Amino acid sequence: MSKKHTDVTASKQINADLLQFDKEHVWHPYTSMSSPLPSYLVESANGVHINLASGESLIDGMSSWWSVLHGYNHPKLNAALVEQAGKMSHVMFGGLTHPSAIILCKKLIQLTPAGLDKVFLCDSGSVSVEVAMKMALQYWHSKAHLENNALTKTKLLTVKNGYHGDTFAAMSVCDPVTGMHQIFEQVLMQNYFAPAPSINFGEQWHDDDTKALRQLFNQHHHELAAFIIEPIVQGTGGMRFYHPQYLKTCRQLCDQYNVLLIVDEIATGFGRTGKLFACEWADISPDIICLGKTLTGGYMTLAATLCTSDIANTISNGEAGCFMHGPTFMGNALACAVANVSIDLLFENNWQLQVQTIEKSLKELLQPLKTNNRVKDTRVLGSIGAIECLQAVNVAVIQKRFVELGVWIRPFGTLIYIIPPLIITTAQLTTLVNAITTVLAEDKCFI
Ligand code: PMP
Repeated sequence: MSKKHTDVTASKQINADLLQFDKEHVWHPYTSMSSPLPSYLVESANGVHINLASGESLIDGMSSWWSVLHGYNHPKLNAALVEQAGKMSHVMFGGLTHPSAIILCKKLIQLTPAGLDKVFLCDSGSVSVEVAMKMALQYWHSKAHLENNALTKTKLLTVKNGYHGDTFAAMSVCDPVTGMHQIFEQVLMQNYFAPAPSINFGEQWHDDDTKALRQLFNQHHHELAAFIIEPIVQGTGGMRFYHPQYLKTCRQLCDQYNVLLIVDEIATGFGRTGKLFACEWADISPDIICLGKTLTGGYMTLAATLCTSDIANTISNGEAGCFMHGPTFMGNALACAVANVSIDLLFENNWQLQVQTIEKSLKELLQPLKTNNRVKDTRVLGSIGAIECLQAVNVAVIQKRFVELGVWIRPFGTLIYIIPPLIITTAQLTTLVNAITTVLAEDKCFI
């Protein structure tokens, strides 16, 4: 037997052992530990390709859960990490600061909607939502303290079908029924829910869509610290794109009833919907914004919560004299350094043109699927393409078929969707959509 053949056999055995250990001991998101969905071993990723240890190279349609913007293994993003690591990877943010964090905060203030000029850096999307909710609650606590009033504003209002993360405060504003968190209902903070927006992006607006929302504001405003919403796109709730007038009305109602507006741009920020921030579709500024996912171009976990000076000053003048949060890895230098370069790359690469090109291709490519007898609806906004099926997918089977077809697409429920890195070409998008067309014809891929 040749040495090469022996090496290949040995590495196959190593990979099989790794996967077996993974299956037996490593939790993966939203899958059973006793009977897990299969995981595929990745050796490397480059550009829009995810390279499996088994040899297949897959075109990535997911951007690693909507976070990768400029592709994997990008020389400039890699260089930013190496350069920063050569100085320091991390220092505590209590009492210390550093240029990468300061420069990033400056960029975020410049780019986000007007009025958001205080930045809290944190670890992940869910944590940034925790921070936003805590900021709103502490703001009203401080205000009551300063004005010598009783504290009444201790609840949040949101819309059904939303998703804001997996930590406890975030879960309490996720959809109460279809959300994944009903098990924890008894220990969750009890908040108020309006019906989900029902008029789609691009459809004719009618004020009826906010009737129930108005009533809830009217009825509960004295209890409401904040209203929280994903702007324009309800992502995990099924990639539903709603009318910008709905978001505009949310801003009006928050102003009218003295309630803070938290906008969760974790999935929509940095160009995904065709605007730099989805709030821009409604031409509004929130009081608090949450950013995450694409912030580092999908390289590292980092999130940011920005708020107005009024919120920051009120909290700082309150009983505690400071905001009550401070994670160990706050302002992590590696994450900030890579975020700075990722934001620069957005502009260098002309993100608007990238997103417009993807949107145009997706609209053309998904058009024929509108009449597919397994498809209920197809929709496209910016670099997001969604195919809502009439039946739920069989995740294990459909995933295996996608891998065989050379693509990485991970559907959930009845939804097959694509959110590719912005550098994807039309030819690569075509391969993704062809793979979807193929699996739509296969009964075994659906339940
Ligand atoms: N908010 C929204 C709108 C999201 O889409 C997500 C993640 N899918 C989160 C919050 C939570 O972010 P993370 O997974 O980084 O905690």
